[in-house]
Amino acid sequence: MPATSTTTPAAAPRVPDGGAASRQHTLRERNLRLVAAAVFEATAPPSRADVAAATGLTRATVSTLVDRLVAGRLVAELPPVAAQRAGRPAVPLVPAGRSVVGLGLEVNVDYLGARALDLVGDVVAERVVTGSLHDSDPREVLGRLRTIATEVIAEVEAGGMRVAGARLALPGLVDVRGARLEVAPNLGWSSVEPVPELDLRTGDGSALDVEVANEAKLAALAELAGDVPSSFLYVSGDVGVGAGIVVDRHLFLGERGWNGEIGHVVVDPAGPRCSCGATGCLEQYAGKEVLLRGAGLPSSAPVHAIVDLLRAGDDAALATVRRGGRALGAALATFVNLVDVSTIVLGGAYAELYGWVGHVVEGVVEERALAAPFAPVDVRPAAAGPHAALAGGAREVLRSVVADPASWV
Ligand SMILES: [Zn+2]
Repeated sequence: MPATSTTTPAAAPRVPDGGAASRQHTLRERNLRLVAAAVFEATAPPSRADVAAATGLTRATVSTLVDRLVAGRLVAELPPVAAQRAGRPAVPLVPAGRSVVGLGLEVNVDYLGARALDLVGDVVAERVVTGSLHDSDPREVLGRLRTIATEVIAEVEAGGMRVAGARLALPGLVDVRGARLEVAPNLGWSSVEPVPELDLRTGDGSALDVEVANEAKLAALAELAGDVPSSFLYVSGDVGVGAGIVVDRHLFLGERGWNGEIGHVVVDPAGPRCSCGATGCLEQYAGKEVLLRGAGLPSSAPVHAIVDLLRAGDDAALATVRRGGRALGAALATFVNLVDVSTIVLGGAYAELYGWVGHVVEGVVEERALAAPFAPVDVRPAAAGPHAALAGGAREVLRSVVADPASWV
């Protein structure tokens, strides 16, 4: 602390000519944001009067701004309902469907895909192509992704909709600001800059804004569309195992956005070699391919093949899934001890295997998390469905539209 406790107040910033007009403009944009948020975050369709009450803006201001959002096709009006008191019937306001869409893209170890979601949350177009991408060539794979993404964009635009942007989910360490993948061990990719490689364009030839993010983190955000507490740990069980930490409905990213690499938490230092180069990582016990092989299936088999064996009481499948569940539980108990979280969401393959791994994980967490007797940890299956990172990515694009509606109306 400086020795003096008083400071000289800074001179008031000089307002350049046109400052008042610029402030007016900024204020209008801020109010438009408030009104959009009031419609998009409402639990039931609000009327203009409800929006005025929620935002503290006048009815006249709200009406003008709502008209802009309706004309820009971000907000739609439902048929009027009779007012409870005397007066004009109220017009409920809802997010507009099939107008602006967000594009979720993903390259994972055994599939790649593109999904377009509209502001209502409906899937309006999707392509998913399965097949092993282990040790693949980034240029070739991104070229294939470009083809299916371009098909989805064309389909969306043929339906009279606009694509607001895209998020690409990748299974590895992503430098979000530099839009660069540092490493994805299971793909065998390192130092890849996918955005120029994709070079996605809308129908009129303009470049589509594409951001890059980690797959498990986007999948975690997809859960927010459902009934989930505002803070939770999401674990994505695929060939790799990743996690997303959500605090108050926002991702906690760590210093560089590289947290959540739970697949490389050590289970047994003397264990098998991992794709990352270390030994005994969680992925070598609870990764999807390890579980499939342990059950006597080819590592390219779909997860429901192992579910069929589990249902039939197959000993090898039961033992492998139990072993994987215990390793996962131990890693998660460590996490609970470190950060104090009371909800764990099991996604990806673990959602399908939940009936067999859920109670195993819960049991180990109960044994090993010091706080468990005082605050039980809820271990639940993910609700967002398959390829959740596609949904999470598309939702992130749409969230940025609602946060900055002036750019879209
Ligand atoms: Zn590893």
